[in-house]
Amino acid sequence: MSVDRAYWFTDFEHLADKLHELAVHSSRPCEIFNIGVTHRGRKIPAIRIGQGKLHNPAIVAGNHGHEVAGLYACLAMIDTLLNDASPTGENVEGWADGILERCTVHFIPFLSVDNGVRYRELIPTCDYSDRYSRDAEDWQRYIEEFNEPRYYFEKKGVHVPMYGFTPEQVEEWKATGKPLGIRYNDQGIDLFCDYKTFFAPETRAARDYLISQMPCAVLELHNHEPASQVFVPVVGATTNDGLVQLSYGEEMMTRLAERGLPCSQHSVRTYNRYYSQEYLQFPEFVYQRITKLSLFAQINTGYLNDYYRDMLRREPLFRRDGDMKTLTRAQRIQTGWSWIHTFLDFGVQRGFK
Ligand SMILES: [Zn+2]
Repeated sequence: MSVDRAYWFTDFEHLADKLHELAVHSSRPCEIFNIGVTHRGRKIPAIRIGQGKLHNPAIVAGNHGHEVAGLYACLAMIDTLLNDASPTGENVEGWADGILERCTVHFIPFLSVDNGVRYRELIPTCDYSDRYSRDAEDWQRYIEEFNEPRYYFEKKGVHVPMYGFTPEQVEEWKATGKPLGIRYNDQGIDLFCDYKTFFAPETRAARDYLISQMPCAVLELHNHEPASQVFVPVVGATTNDGLVQLSYGEEMMTRLAERGLPCSQHSVRTYNRYYSQEYLQFPEFVYQRITKLSLFAQINTGYLNDYYRDMLRREPLFRRDGDMKTLTRAQRIQTGWSWIHTFLDFGVQRGFK
């Protein structure tokens, strides 16, 4: 079966069934369980694979539930660890056994289930490219469907907190009859920016699970418009921690390029002004509370708009990617898989240090 057909799974409410399906023929130890429930009461599944005692790395995806490629990369890697599946076609014989001998690997593959369901209502294929054209004028429609009612309130001069909207603001927006931006959960919270406030049950579930397990390293996956890239070091990382994060980020980008997958020509991405500590709360929370090896990476969404491309060409921090290629669905899955592969492979070589 093709890579995208095998892992492009949009029945988010039944993700646990998909995990069981991947596990059913595997003789390797694994546990599938829920870490909590969403705002709408949907279960948030997780999976732990292996019983290795040396390291316990974790992979987290779906803090933004419309960014589905992170989930699919997790499914592909779960299939590799359980069944030696190889989504890139390369020989992975013996690799999973080597990892699992030393590690117990944790996955929270899709945190914001409600958000994913709402995304699927907007775009049944869960692929932006099927709804938005590359014409510059479609860019505005795209960002509004992501972010509203942010612009609605900003136009009125009302301050909108980074984490999303107050309950009163959500009520006011609902009265207009328009849907919430797909970047927010159904409460109007951007989960990624809720790791100080913990307003959402999803963020509390992720926090409590990570604190209960204290993984040695955490890789978090997103999908955004720029070329695929790893962001390091996280905002608060001090010199040596920053260098370690940078080594992992560079290696993840190098091996991605070696696999021939289109990615950023800027290699790793340093955080710039926009990506403030207020915005980047998940990796910063991980860095401050869980482990110094906190990594954050974005898979390109495959949606390229001409307005956005022009913006890239004008920005020194993005300019080398102005002519980047779009990614097929299979390549998006392979990109995230490659990063997780390097994270685990390089991590075991270095003892996650
Ligand atoms: Zn995101």
